[in-house]
Amino acid sequence: LQTASYTDYIDRTSFYFDTVINIRIYDQKDESILDGCMELAQKYDSLLSAQTQGSDIWNINHSGGTPVTVDPDTISLLDQSLYYADLTGGAFNPALGSVISLWDFTSDDEKDHTVPDNSAIEEALPHTDYHAITIDNSTNTVTLTDPDVQIDLGAIAKGFIADKIKEYLLSQNVSSAIINLGGNALLVGSKPDNSSFTVGIEKPFSSGDYITTISTTDKSIVTSGVYERYFELDGTIYHHLLDPATGFPVQNDLYSVTIVSDNSADGDALSTACFVLGPEAGMELIESLDGIEAAFVYNNYSVVYSSGFPIN
Ligand code: ADP
Ligand code: MG
Ligand code: MG
Repeated sequence: LQTASYTDYIDRTSFYFDTVINIRIYDQKDESILDGCMELAQKYDSLLSAQTQGSDIWNINHSGGTPVTVDPDTISLLDQSLYYADLTGGAFNPALGSVISLWDFTSDDEKDHTVPDNSAIEEALPHTDYHAITIDNSTNTVTLTDPDVQIDLGAIAKGFIADKIKEYLLSQNVSSAIINLGGNALLVGSKPDNSSFTVGIEKPFSSGDYITTISTTDKSIVTSGVYERYFELDGTIYHHLLDPATGFPVQNDLYSVTIVSDNSADGDALSTACFVLGPEAGMELIESLDGIEAAFVYNNYSVVYSSGFPIN
C-alpha cells in the first residue's frame, strides 16, 4: 500500500488484529482524535478476536450452544457476515474457525509450519456450516445450533473496524484521512487540496513494487493475497485463504484480488470470497454488484479488471 507524498499530517502506528495499523489525518492537528481511533481499535480487537479470552466471539465459541448476549456491533458484523456467506455461496464462510485453528500461517517458528492431518480436517469440516449461527436481533443474542461450530471473522473484521473508525473520524469533523489496517485502506474524503489520494496495489511477492495505482477519494481498497500469510514446505506454498469445501488453501492461478468499494466490510468480505471463487465466478459476482470493482492478479502477474475499475 502506498500513498502519494503529502507531508503535512499527524499519524499513529500500532499493532492490532495481528497486524500493523496506521491512521493518518491531514486536516486536523488534534492528537486526541488519534487517541480515539486507537481506543476504537482496542475495543473492537477485544470484542471480535476469536483468540482473545472473554471476547464476544470467544464467548460464543465456548458457549456449548447456549445463547450468548453480545454487543450490538458484534450482532451487526455477524449479520453482515451471514449476508456475505449467502451471497457468495459460502465461499466467504464466517464459521470456518475449527479448520482455521488447525493451521498456523503466521508463526515465526518454522516448526509451526506444518500441514494438518487429513483426519483432523475431516473431523472439523462437518462443523463449518454457517447456518448454525443464529441471531436474535431483538435481544442481541447469538446461539450456535451446532456447538462445535467456531466463528472466525478474520476475513471481514478489519474492514468492519475501518468503517467504524471512519464513522468516528467524520464525527470529529475530519475530512481528509487514510485508515490503513494491515494493508486494508479506507480513504476519508480527499487530500486537503481536494485532489485524489493515490493508492498502490502491491505486486505479490515483490515488496515495494506495484501492479498499478488508483487515484480516488473516499473509497475502500482491500486486498486478499496468498503472499500475505503463507509458508512453504517441500516446494508447495500453503497460504491463509482456505477453500471451505476442503479445509486446504485454495488452489487456483491467482495471487491476489483487490476490491474497491465504498464500505470496507464489503470490500474485505468480497476480496476473500472472490479469491476463493476464482477469477471467473468471482468476476461474475463483482459485475452483478453496484459500486463494487475488482482487480484479479494472476500468478503470472497478468491482471484482469472489472468494467468500472478506476485504473489510473
Ligand atoms: P487478511 O487477513 O490478510 O486481511 P483476508 O481478509 O482475506 O486476509 O482474510 C483471511 C483470513 O480469514 C484467514 O487468515 C483466515 O483466518 C480467514 N479465512 C480463510 N479462508 C476463509 C474463508 N474461505 N472464509 C472466511 N474466512 C476465511
Ligand atoms: Mg477479507
Ligand atoms: Mg483482509
